[in-house]
Amino acid sequence: MFLWSEHHRNRLTIVVCVWALASGCALQRFLRVEERRIDERLWFFLGGGGNSVVITHGAEAFVSDVKFGGAAKTLQHRVEVDLAREVRRVLLTHSHEDHAGGLARFRQAGPVLVHPNTRKRLEASGVHAEWVEVTTPLRLTLGDEVIRVWHPGAGHTNGDLVAWLERRKLLITGDLVTAENEPVIDVEAGGDVLAFRATLDALLEVDFVTALPGHGAPIGRDTVRRLRELFVVLEREVRDAQRRGLSEDEVVSAVMAAAAPVLEPVPFAASREKTIRLMDRALRARAATEARL
Ligand SMILES: [Zn+2]
Repeated sequence: MFLWSEHHRNRLTIVVCVWALASGCALQRFLRVEERRIDERLWFFLGGGGNSVVITHGAEAFVSDVKFGGAAKTLQHRVEVDLAREVRRVLLTHSHEDHAGGLARFRQAGPVLVHPNTRKRLEASGVHAEWVEVTTPLRLTLGDEVIRVWHPGAGHTNGDLVAWLERRKLLITGDLVTAENEPVIDVEAGGDVLAFRATLDALLEVDFVTALPGHGAPIGRDTVRRLRELFVVLEREVRDAQRRGLSEDEVVSAVMAAAAPVLEPVPFAASREKTIRLMDRALRARAATEARL
């Protein structure tokens, strides 16, 4: 899921593979692109790395997340050859390889919308494009389709963008939300366990009915609410355990999070234990900072 070194590329391969297995589907199925035509203007291309959305207007297409490897080739071929649409704008929800790795296949595309932190990470790994940095909420129109793009806050990384298709009440969340998995918090890329809840609150303020997560099938508001609840419960229980003077390992044992949703781990990337440890360290670090002030 990472772009900026060979080490991280290898880690990506492992993470993608185990994610596929953890999700209960064969690797082949995970890497397969499942196309869903919603109507004559909107397509979902699920899997093959991160989910992608294609919105067309006349002979043009807007693509959100470009997958990687062979799946990126499949996506590009479907849009540019089979559907005969010219990709004029690309949105990258974040820098991870399985969402952004296929960008080179869309070289002819116009502006690539990214958060500045995503741009930094991609450029550090040698990826260059006609970037448009999204620093404040952006409104795009494609015919009668209004697309709003913005950074709702840190969580998965510190450079996630989401998109809202206003008329359709559809929210594209990138990896800030995954359907049934424990949240992946990429600390090296600025992922933030303490900020995650507020970021999900910001998403829940949006008037959406359906969300397309970074991986898996479309979801409703309840899935986002349940994910938010996880952070509420964990923060409360970790704080309680810390007040009792427990060490990090003891906190892990003490926090039962019985009221939190049960989510599938993503081996090497996300598990309930890892989320608790991140929460414990973040709360201790914040308390230490506050004590110094
Ligand atoms: Zn990701």
